Amino acid sequence: MATLHRPTSLFPIRHITKTTRRLLAIVLLVLGGCCKSEPPPPPDLRVIGLEVTQAIQDTHNSVPLVTGKRTFVRVYVTREIIDHYNPPYLTAMLEGFRNGLSLGAPLSPANVGQRIYVYGEWDRRNLNDAFYFELPANWIQEGQITLKATIDPSHDFPENDYSNNIVNSGVLTFQPGKALRLHFVKYSYLRDGAQIAPSQFDIDEIVSQLRRMYPIPWLNYQQYVVLSNCGGGTNQISPPPCNSTYADAAHPLKIPSQEDVETLLLGLRQTYESNNPDALYFGLYALPVNVVDFQRGAAWWYDRVAVGWTHAGTVILDDRLENPGRIGTHEIGHLLGRAHVLCTGTEALPDATYPYPGGQIGGLYTQFMGFDSGDAGLDPSFTLRIIPPDWVDLMSYCDKAWISDYTYTKIYNYIQTAIGVTMLRPASHARSVLQNIAYDFVSAGEKGDYLSVYGTIDVSQQVASVSFLSRQTNVTKIPIRKPGAYHILLLNAQDKRLADYAFTPLDDSNGDTRVVIGQIVPFVPGTARVAIYSDVARREIASVRVSPKSPVVSALEFNMDARLPASARVLLNWSANDPDGDMLTYTLLYSFDDGQSWRVLATGITGSTFAVDTGQLEGTKRGYFRLIANDGVNTGFADSVPFSVAGKPPIARISNPANGNTYVYGQTVTLEGYGQDIEDGTLDDAHLSWSSNRDGSLGTGHLIYPSFLSVGVHTITLIASDFTEQTGTATVTITITQH
Ligand SMILES: [Zn+2]
Repeated sequence: MATLHRPTSLFPIRHITKTTRRLLAIVLLVLGGCCKSEPPPPPDLRVIGLEVTQAIQDTHNSVPLVTGKRTFVRVYVTREIIDHYNPPYLTAMLEGFRNGLSLGAPLSPANVGQRIYVYGEWDRRNLNDAFYFELPANWIQEGQITLKATIDPSHDFPENDYSNNIVNSGVLTFQPGKALRLHFVKYSYLRDGAQIAPSQFDIDEIVSQLRRMYPIPWLNYQQYVVLSNCGGGTNQISPPPCNSTYADAAHPLKIPSQEDVETLLLGLRQTYESNNPDALYFGLYALPVNVVDFQRGAAWWYDRVAVGWTHAGTVILDDRLENPGRIGTHEIGHLLGRAHVLCTGTEALPDATYPYPGGQIGGLYTQFMGFDSGDAGLDPSFTLRIIPPDWVDLMSYCDKAWISDYTYTKIYNYIQTAIGVTMLRPASHARSVLQNIAYDFVSAGEKGDYLSVYGTIDVSQQVASVSFLSRQTNVTKIPIRKPGAYHILLLNAQDKRLADYAFTPLDDSNGDTRVVIGQIVPFVPGTARVAIYSDVARREIASVRVSPKSPVVSALEFNMDARLPASARVLLNWSANDPDGDMLTYTLLYSFDDGQSWRVLATGITGSTFAVDTGQLEGTKRGYFRLIANDGVNTGFADSVPFSVAGKPPIARISNPANGNTYVYGQTVTLEGYGQDIEDGTLDDAHLSWSSNRDGSLGTGHLIYPSFLSVGVHTITLIASDFTEQTGTATVTITITQH
């Protein structure tokens, strides 16, 4: 683990309370005797500290700064005489230097009106009790800078001593920071004919919180939909991956339990999905609004797979545990090596070295406080805010969570050293196909005769449920098998053991009694039965019969010509046969890159037709469908003829400024926005361009800082363009005033 450079301590800030002052005054009166009339001391403004924050910081600036991440400087000021009726209303300026050279024009405060009232007393929890500045792009590049803040630079307020109106930061180091790569799956399922799915807003909230909170300069993600089936309607499936005990009179059909989703997504990914094998994987699913599952999510560090749920059709913007962003940042924190932090007291396997009581991010005697840059794209009123120190760490189970310095630093170190978690290259599908560049992120896979065994074990009841069994000649990633108290047994028709694979189930650290079977083992021909044996119970706790013959799929066809439009419903049909007469279920895969990589579109399909929305397919010159038939264990598959799919435009999204914001001429306006594309993932800076209807082009990048927009009303437009020149736009309107 790399150690972090800790900048030298700056000015410690002492918060003198009103009570302390009164006590002090009384003591002075007693010491000095009564009734002497002294002239009041001349008023004196004084800078008492400068804090540089990206998400969490103390007044010593001990938390590392990450290159390229939005950075804010707070400058604290006081004066000795408190005048609540006529406080001075003052401005300040911030200068930056690299190697002794100026970084450019001094910055004005970003406070409304570029001024604050200086009361003498101040509270660090109030944004406008201090000056704050946002550092422009060339100030937050890798390396060292120093800052110099001057309050009341034009000496509007009469003082005897102006020398203490200036503070220097000491050396601040922006550390190199790697981007985080994520693979999101919107897990959707059919229940009684209706599709239950998380919303795009849910994913946007997770992405937004990761960008705001995590020690990363960049998040590069892709997202897909995986459709499953809980039965009902015209579809019937056995066994359904929907074992939750919940059911109501209106919907007697079951819904997936968390373990169902976990095991299915883990099994599908490790068996079939060869794209992005090392990216962190987060599966989000939805429950009907009247259903609550005890666990919000789960994560497996080794497998880099996590899941969480949200309520279908709801929007939660506040800081409750139910916020999808809260669930995502917590579970992805597990994937980045973080254990739980104690807050409710029920957090399983807590981190004993977490430094602050009650799981707080700061606590009483530390000076850590959070800073949230907000996201007006989620809600126009959601802008900058201070996160107080009594909020708790995101790895706890409490509401009102933010990232502590402890978790921030640990995640930073993990990301810098974890192999494969991060890559800055855009995972461009379009480039890989159109420009014939080898796709970077395809697992070579493992070829052989393999059996995927996924399911759950209730360790207290000693019962197992095997929900996904599949025999394949090629799998993506064989999970580590650590011998333990459970066994996958392959038995022949005479019940003789052909193979015995001892394993340790995966514990998702949630502290319940259910653990996950997630193994891929060599298959042995002649196997007539697969059993799970427990050394604890000293008996078999699950058994699945294996029929001798594999199913055969033929003639996978679709009802359009081989040029699929960007948005259409294409109907697939096929014929399949199982020589043993077993019931068949199907999994549908898609390849956009001429069969190099595959991903799952749907699983648990029954019948012989299935409709695909081409809007969910990456554009390609040469793609395929692959249908895998499963008779319970054995599989057979067929590929479609190759086809092309029209590419999709990216979606542009502006996080800042808020629509309707007003700025004073000369004030820096932070423009933050992103482009997301189904083919190219998260678009890089070169593919994001900004303009104003008054001032023309403003520049390119996800974060730019124009300073002198002309006075008037501006329509600000972000154009995101993908690698095939398709574009998406977003706009906000802001006003620049003269004063
Ligand atoms: Zn957890």
